[in-house]
Amino acid sequence: MSTRLKTVLLFGQPGVGKGTQGGILGTVPGFVHLATGDMFRGLDRESELGQEFVKYSTQGLLVPNDLTIRLWHQYVQGLIDTNKYRPDTDLLVLDGIPRSVGQAEILKDHIDVLRVVHLVCKDTDALIARMKRRAELQGRHDDADEDVIRRRIDVYYQETQAVLDCYDASLIAEVNAVGLPGEILMNVLNAIIPESREQIGNPFG
Ligand code: AMP
Repeated sequence: MSTRLKTVLLFGQPGVGKGTQGGILGTVPGFVHLATGDMFRGLDRESELGQEFVKYSTQGLLVPNDLTIRLWHQYVQGLIDTNKYRPDTDLLVLDGIPRSVGQAEILKDHIDVLRVVHLVCKDTDALIARMKRRAELQGRHDDADEDVIRRRIDVYYQETQAVLDCYDASLIAEVNAVGLPGEILMNVLNAIIPESREQIGNPFG
């Protein structure tokens, strides 16, 4: 990865719907969705790295930067090597990273952030309820326990929120995360498309 990857960040509190929106975007040609939570959950839980992840995630804590960034690099390289991501014509949609100012600093040399989509929901109780439902549906161990969820939200305010200050205010688009998924998607696309038109190749013409 010699040049900086053209990137959009999906940003916001845990449970705000980054994964839902990122998942939909990832089905559109020209967008490649990479969620670091999914990357970690895809590790073999018996492996050393998988156990390291479980150790932190079950407490609602962030995995240390060196491990996170190393895995992220390997994962992106894997997507490139398997032709799932073509940096010249695709836009990388990152979800769940950077999650601290330290990560944002390290990633500066690797990603060119065209837009930060900040999904906003001020109703923390609604987010907690959503995360508990998701934990049941998807068997996510980290969100099964309300204390862990609350720790994840604390960590967001203590470590992650400041990431927004690492980017020029003109790059940040606030999108209301409350509403119909289609409506939210429309607002997310409106925030992304004008900035990314040049980057995304038209696969049909
Ligand atoms: P998520 O699915 O994005 O909520 O992430 C689930 C868990 O994975 C988090 O609580 C962290 O333990 C870990 N994680 C995901 N992304 C990161 C990251 N960028 N840095 C550190 N830990 C992360």
